[in-house]
Amino acid sequence: MTESTLAQRLLAGDRRALARAITLVEDDRPEGWQLVREVYPHTGAAEVVGFTGPPGVGKSTLIGALTKARREAGRTVGVLSIDPSSPFTHGALLGDRIRLSEHFLDQGVFIRSMANRGALGGLSEAALQAALLLDAAGRQDVFIETVGVGQAEIDIIDHADTIVLVLMPGSGDSIQALKAGVMEIPDVIVINKADHPLADTMVREIRGVLSLANLDRSPEEARARWRVPIIKTEANRGSGVEELVESLAAHRAHIVGAGQLQERRRRNLHNEVLAIATARMRRRLEDELREDVEFQRLLDEVVERRLDPASAASSLLERAARPAEPVE
Ligand code: GDP
Repeated sequence: MTESTLAQRLLAGDRRALARAITLVEDDRPEGWQLVREVYPHTGAAEVVGFTGPPGVGKSTLIGALTKARREAGRTVGVLSIDPSSPFTHGALLGDRIRLSEHFLDQGVFIRSMANRGALGGLSEAALQAALLLDAAGRQDVFIETVGVGQAEIDIIDHADTIVLVLMPGSGDSIQALKAGVMEIPDVIVINKADHPLADTMVREIRGVLSLANLDRSPEEARARWRVPIIKTEANRGSGVEELVESLAAHRAHIVGAGQLQERRRRNLHNEVLAIATARMRRRLEDELREDVEFQRLLDEVVERRLDPASAASSLLERAARPAEPVE
């Protein structure tokens, strides 16, 4: 099979081609990067929503319910479930991890799990490439779910047009993270497991955090801003999902209307280009230094406390900059 036929089949929406293509990018194969290069001009139409939140709050269940709603509206769906902590690859965790089994036979739903890998650019970049492939294959809605909490997930979430934070009553750490500004304010907040007696208390607490975040803005600014909705859901029963669908549509309409969609995508792509470039530079540097005697000497000096690490890094960079290499 040649690359061009794989690209053509992918663009035609062929699920097997899509699965193969994602495996290529996940394995960091050159054909994978080449494929993305070819189909990239055909991307940009998908509506990409990222879901984040602590494990066990019901993200997968919620995405399952949302997928059902979007299918009923006649839309095709792609789901990427990203688990940076898992040693498994190639969808091995699908069966237990993602609760979307009712959609497995539906041709309009494509579900894929991606786990950690030590390859170029890391999981976040592989996930972005996979999201682009889903987009190129004509998936109208792309849901990216991240499992767990931490910096890596936030990177992945950067690839979305709309960010949904999913919480459940009692997940106080996330409120703390919001309050402390560790976590950026999401576009939509879902309180799942709303059958819990503390659900309303949690809604109030989050309202408080959000109004604090608005304090340093002028009244005009605050009015023009998107008001983050807090939606109560019971994902396993499907309740509140309709409101979530409406909020996602309203958020999209808001960012499109305010010209923010392009801005957001520009910012996301800026981060992406930098992330890939940084990963490549690091790899190049590591390759160059592996057998480098001069570098070993520099390191000896650092070890013997005659040179501090930052000065060593500076002289390394000066040296790397010296032979002006032509730009590729
Ligand atoms: P994730 O780790 O955030 O993806 O969470 P899951 O979707 O795997 O859900 C974790 C558990 O919570 C599962 O056993 C779900 O069946 C259950 N669950 C999901 N939504 C609800 C809900 O609204 N109410 C209750 N009581 N349980 C739920």
